[in-house]
Order: sequence, then structure tokens, then C-alpha cells
Amino acid sequence: MSWNNRIERALQHRRDEYLWRQRHTLDSAQGTHVRCDGNTFLNFCSNDYLGLAATGQQDLSLAAERWAIGSGASHLVCGHSRAHHDLEQALADYTGYPCALLFSTGYMANVGVISALAQRGDLILQDKLNHASLLDGAQLSRARMTRYRHADLAHLNDLLERHAPVIKTGRSQSETDLQADTNKAETLVVTDSIFSMDGDLADIGAMATSCQQHQALLMVDDAHGLGVLGPQGRGARAHFDLSCEQLPVYIGTLGKAFGGYGAFVAGSEDLIDYLIQFARSYIYTTALPPALADAMQGNLQRLQDDTLRDTLHQRIAQFRRGAQELGLPLMASESPIQPILVGDSQQALALSQALRDSGIWVSAIRPPTVPVNEARLRVTLTAAHSEADVAQLLHALERHWQALTTAEQPIHPHPEAP
Ligand SMILES: *Cc1c(COP(=O)(O)O)cnc(C)c1O
Repeated sequence: MSWNNRIERALQHRRDEYLWRQRHTLDSAQGTHVRCDGNTFLNFCSNDYLGLAATGQQDLSLAAERWAIGSGASHLVCGHSRAHHDLEQALADYTGYPCALLFSTGYMANVGVISALAQRGDLILQDKLNHASLLDGAQLSRARMTRYRHADLAHLNDLLERHAPVIKTGRSQSETDLQADTNKAETLVVTDSIFSMDGDLADIGAMATSCQQHQALLMVDDAHGLGVLGPQGRGARAHFDLSCEQLPVYIGTLGKAFGGYGAFVAGSEDLIDYLIQFARSYIYTTALPPALADAMQGNLQRLQDDTLRDTLHQRIAQFRRGAQELGLPLMASESPIQPILVGDSQQALALSQALRDSGIWVSAIRPPTVPVNEARLRVTLTAAHSEADVAQLLHALERHWQALTTAEQPIHPHPEAP
């Protein structure tokens, strides 16, 4: 009975606080225009930054003829196919690392890599706004975790200084037992590259320097940067011009700019060997369907066409220019993620719903995904959007933003709206 109470109370709280989440069922493939609930919407909330989710039908059907639907087992039993193996090598080459290891999802890659690397007694330092999967991986590892203020290098350096000083100062004799213990432990620093709900980019170059100084291991989750940053979209390492030693643990996902599904970690041969031995979310799960791995090779080729990124950046610039003219509260982002910071969950929901009524889909992101009072509309732009699509969004925002900010009475959305 008490379980029922707990569940009911949690659901009621979500409704009361305008935090209720619900799914919308698409009746079409992903794209700039999607069919949903009997209507067509102009879509500004996917992570399909290059418009590649709607490609690859031919690759997939050819791959399915060869590999059929299932992998049949985990990688270490008999599920590891030539298709997986070749994709790993292609991803390693593309991102500029000696080796890569495929995971079924980015969530599983992050959880598996962090929990395999960090152990009890170690210290994990994470940006306050890191993705949930990175935080979950740290919990699973049983290491200590401290979160530094978002993108605050001084705070990160201070924590590195305080917790890993032995290399530089040799003061460990006079420190407390606790610190002496910490000194024996290792430090792992983890960050998103482009932050998923803010769109800003971590200063990974400076972080790499700090980590080298303190002999900490740097891990970057480039879920939103791969395909978007760097020449040919090669990602954060290429963008910051770092060596593999400077950015030793690199996570990429195939579900965002790649337009598909899956994820990988790239690094040294030893790192990949270690993960094959110890990453539980790699070992104890069925391998990705080989047809999917095979078909991703097509998108890996398409992704490298820099005209896609040129178009994407034109759309981003067009949106920012227009939104600034309208006086919308944009955030400091140059990426395809362009949030409009509304603040109040109810108002964010109202704006999202007003746009939806005009045939435009932009989801409201509310706590706990973002901090309290920082609800926002998360606009994402893609290379597949036309100039006219972005103009249509700006036009609708002009109307509805004014209505929202000049309304004498607060607008009351249905609390179960998207
Ligand atoms: C989407 C995302 C993930 C998870 O990747 P999936 O392949 O969707 O599981 C991990 N990290 C970040 C920063 C993300 O945005």
C-alpha cells in the first residue's frame, strides 16, 4: 500500500508543479516536418543536427540483407561481427584515435567507462551541468564525486589543487590521513563538450592542461560535438587541436549528428583492452544489431561533407540574429542548441504550447532536467531546416513571446501539456 501512496504522491507533485512529462507519438520518420497527433509540425527539437536521421534507407536495407535483424549475443560471447569491428576502426580513424569500442548507447558507454575506470577511494570531478549518464556512472563506481561550478575552470583547478597536490608539493607527510589516502587515489575529470541543455562549449583545451598538470585523467562526452565541431565534424579533440594523450578518453554517440543509434569510446589500445575486460555495460549486454553498425558507415561518409556544417551555421546565425532583434533571452551558445531561457516552468510550457498550436514543435525543458527557475524552450537547429523554416519559427516566437510577456493574467496551460 505504501508503494501505491509513494507513486501517487510523486505523480501528483509532477502535475501540480507543471513538471509532468508525456510522450508524443510520431507517425512519420524523424525530420524537419513530422506527423504527430494528426497534424504536421515544423520540428525544432531533435538532435539530428545534420539531417542524417532521414537518410540511409538503402544502406540499412542492404545491410539487413546481409546481417538480418539480430546480433544474437553479447560481444564477448559470439555477437561481435565484422560489421561492428569495421565500424570501430572507421570511428577510430575518423576521430583520430588508435582504437574505438562500440557501445549500444551513449548512456551505457558513459556508465560503463566511468564505473570501470574509477574505483572506491578515487575522486571524480564533474561539471555541475554534466549529462545524467555521467553522474550515474560515477555513482556506480563508488568513487567520491564532486561537481564543480558550471564551466568554472578556477573552481576545477582549486579542487584539483586541494585533492591531488602530492605530485607538485610532496607535502603528504603533514596532511591528514584522509588526504594521504586521497593522494594515493586517482582523479578523473569528466565533462560534456557542448552542454546538452545550454548549448555552450566547455574549454576543453584549458581543462586538458589542468589535467596534465595534476595527473588527472580527462574524459569528454562529445555527444553534441561529434559531427558538429572540428574539420569534417571530427569532434572536440580536433576542434581544440589536442593530441590523444591530452584528451585520453573520448565518448562519441551515433544518435545525434550521426542520425542513427549507438555510441563508442575512443582512446589508446590499452584503454580499449581495459574496457573490454571491465566495462560491465559493454560485457553484459547484447551487441548492437550488426546491420545497424554496417549501415552507420554510410552516415559516417555523409557526415564529413562540410557543406552540411556550413548550412547548419547559417541557420544558427539566422536564428540568433532574429531572436536578438526580438529581445528573446538567448544563452551564450554558438551550437545548434539555442535555448530560450523563460525561467518559470508554467510559462515555458505555455510558450511551447502556443508554438505547437501554430504548428511548431519546440519542447519545454523543465526541472529536474535543468535547475529550478531555469525552465527553457530548447530550440535545436539542423542543416535540414531551410531559411524559410527558421523565419517561420522567428515569426511565431515574435507573436507568442509578446503575448506571454504582456499578458496581464498569467497564461494557464493545461498542466499535462508537453
Ligand atoms: C544524448 C546524450 C547521451 C546519451 O546518448 P544515447 O546514445 O542517447 O544514450 C550522453 N551524453 C550526452 C551529453 C547526451 O546528450
